[in-house]
Amino acid sequence: MSVRPVRIGPVVVGASEFVVVAGPCAIESHERFDKIASLVGRAGATILRGGIHKLRTRPDSFQGLGDPAIAIVRAVRERTGMPFITEITDAQQVEALDPVVDAYQVGSRNMHNYALLKELGRAGKPVILKRGFCGRIDEWLHAAEYLVRAGTDDVILCERGIRTFETAMRNTLDLACVPYVKERSSFPVLVDPSHGTGIPSLIAPMSLAAAAAGADGIMVEVHDEPTLALSDGEQALTPAMFDELIARLEPVLGAIRRPLARESLKA
Ligand code: PEP
Ligand code: MN
Repeated sequence: MSVRPVRIGPVVVGASEFVVVAGPCAIESHERFDKIASLVGRAGATILRGGIHKLRTRPDSFQGLGDPAIAIVRAVRERTGMPFITEITDAQQVEALDPVVDAYQVGSRNMHNYALLKELGRAGKPVILKRGFCGRIDEWLHAAEYLVRAGTDDVILCERGIRTFETAMRNTLDLACVPYVKERSSFPVLVDPSHGTGIPSLIAPMSLAAAAAGADGIMVEVHDEPTLALSDGEQALTPAMFDELIARLEPVLGAIRRPLARESLKA
């Protein structure tokens, strides 16, 4: 089916250009988020990501800065001109997040949270719907339909790996789902090889494969000092690895005639 493109700020996902979403798993401080934003923006990312409210497996893990991160995002988004996406974990967060968020991310743990989906469908912003780690493709498409029925056509799917018998990698990245859902729906599709593999050296090859499989873009986690990261440091790309990823991606994008989206940064 033909893709219905979704606009996130000045960036269009699902058109001819391939979109790279990058940033830290979680926003940790103004200084660090600002630095990572500049690094990924200069290297080729056009959309900035960063967790404000984190859903962590362990209750004693860093849960995100929460509301104090909003002022950080406002400043960094304004300085760089990059549109910003973040996970929303509770519909009550809409009011606070709305002024600084260009698209909401529904995390893997919330794909089945229909109350949240119904609220987000009415929130007036595009939604990136991650696949549940135990979510079948039909359930994922039905979840997307909840958003559409609630009032938005601006839905992007994001494959981020599923839980299988295989434990060598954090998840099993299901790249066949990309052409599969594209044959059956008109939602643009992103691939998140960071959570999909959990292994930095696999992120570039899976990004190239995602592009070749027809994904409209990728979402990757980047940290300037992964060993110090407060969440998902073990899977974070360093800025140098992110540069290399973009360099390896470009010939593949050339071969499939899908140029990398590049928005000029203010700074
Ligand atoms: C994330 O993108 O930081 C995240 C928590 O992803 P997921 O919901 O796919 O686990
Ligand atoms: Mn993460």
